[in-house]
Amino acid sequence: MSRQHLGHTARKRFGQNFLHDALVIQRIVDAISPQKGQALVEIGPGLGALTEPVCEQVDHLTVVELDRDLAKRLRHHPFMADKLTIVEQDALKYDFHQLCPENGKLRVFGNLPYNISTPLMFHLFAQSECIEDMHFMLQKEVVKRLAASPGNKNYGRLSVMAQYYCQVESVLEVPPAAFNPPPKVDSAIVRLIPHTNKPVQVNNESTLASICTQAFNQRRKTIRNSLKNSLSADQIASVGIKPESRAEVLSLEDFARLANLIHVEE
Ligand code: SAM
Repeated sequence: MSRQHLGHTARKRFGQNFLHDALVIQRIVDAISPQKGQALVEIGPGLGALTEPVCEQVDHLTVVELDRDLAKRLRHHPFMADKLTIVEQDALKYDFHQLCPENGKLRVFGNLPYNISTPLMFHLFAQSECIEDMHFMLQKEVVKRLAASPGNKNYGRLSVMAQYYCQVESVLEVPPAAFNPPPKVDSAIVRLIPHTNKPVQVNNESTLASICTQAFNQRRKTIRNSLKNSLSADQIASVGIKPESRAEVLSLEDFARLANLIHVEE
């Protein structure tokens, strides 16, 4: 399979898999449902597979693209250039607050480079107070993990953290053939809607993240063993959690209670 697409050689290091299936593209744009006047931001516009149909529906779109050649092509695009603000930067380091309108929030979307999709989502979760919603193409396995409930084999740190920040909804599955070059894995679109009010009270978000990392590092261990460097069995039991439970059965509320034992409210 050629890595050439529309006269551009796809770069592996930038996770470039370009969408070319018109029906899939239409269904993604329908799921985003862009409207005039909204502050839309696309991460990784590439050759414009999603950018073009979105631009047809709105007056303005901001795109964040790291590949200098692709940013240049967009700057000279025959009908989109006037509508686009092109930010030629690494989305992982970008402060999205600066794009936020005074009386509104951002709508972020993108067919994300899979090599950075998880850190990128965490980067955006940390800025979720300025985000209305996000629609992302990800590996199907990652979408399953984002949406998984306790007891499910896909349930883990990513599920707990994503569900702390957002309502998670799996929207559409996309086969490798919809891309050029095709990725080795199946893909899916996820909708993430940041909670206006968080579902649980957490005194320190980094502590929640660190508790989840420790708890899921060795999934088969009991929670008392995985957290032995942070909490005693008595402390775990004091918030109504059996020390012999495994991380995979604990809910977001349970993880919040454990984190708040370490980081007591000031
Ligand atoms: N949106 C296009 C499409 O659907 O055909 C391209 C999607 S491709 C999977 C990922 C895009 O993200 C590429 O354009 C790539 O250059 C860009 N990209 C990769 N790393 C990036 C980063 N750190 N910040 C911003 N854009 C990045």
